[in-house]
Amino acid sequence: MAITALLLLAACAAPSGASRAAVKEPEAAAAPAAPVSESRTGLLGTVVTVTVYGRGAEPGSAAFEAAFAAATEVDEAMSVNRPDSEISRVNESGFGAAVPVSEGTYAILEEALRIAELSGGAFDPAIGGLTELWKEDGAFARLPSAEEIAAARPGAGAGNVELRADGTVRLAFPGTRLDLGAIAKGYACDRAAEALRGQGVSSALLDFGGNVYALGAKPGGEAYTIGIASPYPGDGSVACTVPAMDAAVVTSGGYQKFFEEGGVIYHHILDPATGYPVEGNLLSVSIVAPSSTLADGLSTACFVLGLDRGMALLDSIPEAEGVFITADGTIHVTAGLIGVVSPADDRFTLPQEEGVAVVYYENEPVKTLRLGQDREYVFERDGMENRILVEGGSVRVAEANCANQTCVQMGAHAAAGDMIVCLPHSLVIKIEEGADLGADTVAG
Ligand SMILES: [Zn+2]
Repeated sequence: MAITALLLLAACAAPSGASRAAVKEPEAAAAPAAPVSESRTGLLGTVVTVTVYGRGAEPGSAAFEAAFAAATEVDEAMSVNRPDSEISRVNESGFGAAVPVSEGTYAILEEALRIAELSGGAFDPAIGGLTELWKEDGAFARLPSAEEIAAARPGAGAGNVELRADGTVRLAFPGTRLDLGAIAKGYACDRAAEALRGQGVSSALLDFGGNVYALGAKPGGEAYTIGIASPYPGDGSVACTVPAMDAAVVTSGGYQKFFEEGGVIYHHILDPATGYPVEGNLLSVSIVAPSSTLADGLSTACFVLGLDRGMALLDSIPEAEGVFITADGTIHVTAGLIGVVSPADDRFTLPQEEGVAVVYYENEPVKTLRLGQDREYVFERDGMENRILVEGGSVRVAEANCANQTCVQMGAHAAAGDMIVCLPHSLVIKIEEGADLGADTVAG
C-alpha cells in the first residue's frame, strides 16, 4: 500500500513525460551524503537558494557555480530595474526601431508570447507601462491616478510586441513597455536546473524566492513534498502540500506584495484589462508544471482569470495542475491533484472529494479525470482509439476500436479500486484516491 501511494503521488505530481524522465537507474550508491544548500541574495530581487542531494553536493562545487551563473545571466538580461538589461534597452528604443536581442532573451520573449496567447492575455508581457506607474524606487508602493492608468492602458497587450524572425524586437505602441517580472524567476529557475543537470546533479531543490523547482526525486526515489505558503499576510506557515518530481511549484498571491493607502489594500498582481490590482475572492494560485517558466506565467494568469476561468484554462493544458485558495480558506484543485493535496490545518478546507479515474497507457498515467465532472476524453495512439466517458459520477469506455470490445462490455464503474482494462490497447482506467502530508520546502 505504501509503495502504491508513493507511485501515485509521483504520477499525479508530474505529467507522464516528466515522470518517465525521472525513472532513472539508481546511482552507484555509496552512503548518501547530506544535502548541501547555498544561497545568493540580490539575485532577481529575491533570495535564491539551491539545495543539492547526492552528486554535486559539496559546498562551492561547480554545480552551484553553474546554477547561480545561469540565474545571474537571466537576471542581467531581463530585469526592468537594471537600465542596462536587454529588456530595458528594448523598452528604451523598441518603438520605431527593431532592437536586436540575444538568443536567450528571444527565447524567453517567445515563451512569454505563447503563455499570453494560451491565457487569452491574462498573462501580459507588455504590461510594463502599467506596472511602472505602481512603482516608487523600483518597489510596488505607489497609487497612480486614474488618468495615468487610462493613458498607459493602450500600451499593454501582447499584440503590441512584435518578435521578428531576424532576432529583433519591435514595440508597436509608443507607451508599450515589456515587463517579464511575472516569469523571470521561473525562467531563471529553469535555466539553473538545466545547469545543474549539466553538472550531473540528479536530485536538487531550487527555491527562487518561493518559486520552487524539484529536480528529480528525493534520494530515496520518492517525490518531494512541497508546501504551499499560507496566503494570509505575514503568516509564514503552510496552507497545504503537493508532491513534485521534475516539476516546478509556483504561487501567485496578493499577499506577496502589497501596500495600504487610505484604508485600501493594493496588491501587486495587476489585471492587464484594467490596470488595477485584480479583484475577486482568490487569495493565491499555485501551479505545478514541468516548466517553471510556464508555472510562473500560469500562476499569474490564473490569478487574473479567477477560480472558474483559471480552472478551465488549466483543464486545457495537460502538463499543468493548479491549487486555488479562496478567501474563505477553501482549497480548490485541478483533477490531477485530487487525492494528493492535504490542508495543513483547520483554517483551510478541501471540499468533499468526488474521486478521480486515472487513465494509464503502458503503465504510465496519461490523463486524470474528475468523476464529479461530466466529460469525454478520447485516448488516441497509433490508430488505437478509446472514447472514455465520465457521466453521473462513473466512468466507462463508450467506444473502442479494439478487437475484443471487453473494455466496452465492462460498463460503468465508480468505486475506488475498480479498473476498466483494454488489453489490446495496453490501456487501464483505474478509480483512485489517496492523501499525504509533510513538506520538504515551501512554495510561495
Ligand atoms: Zn478495448
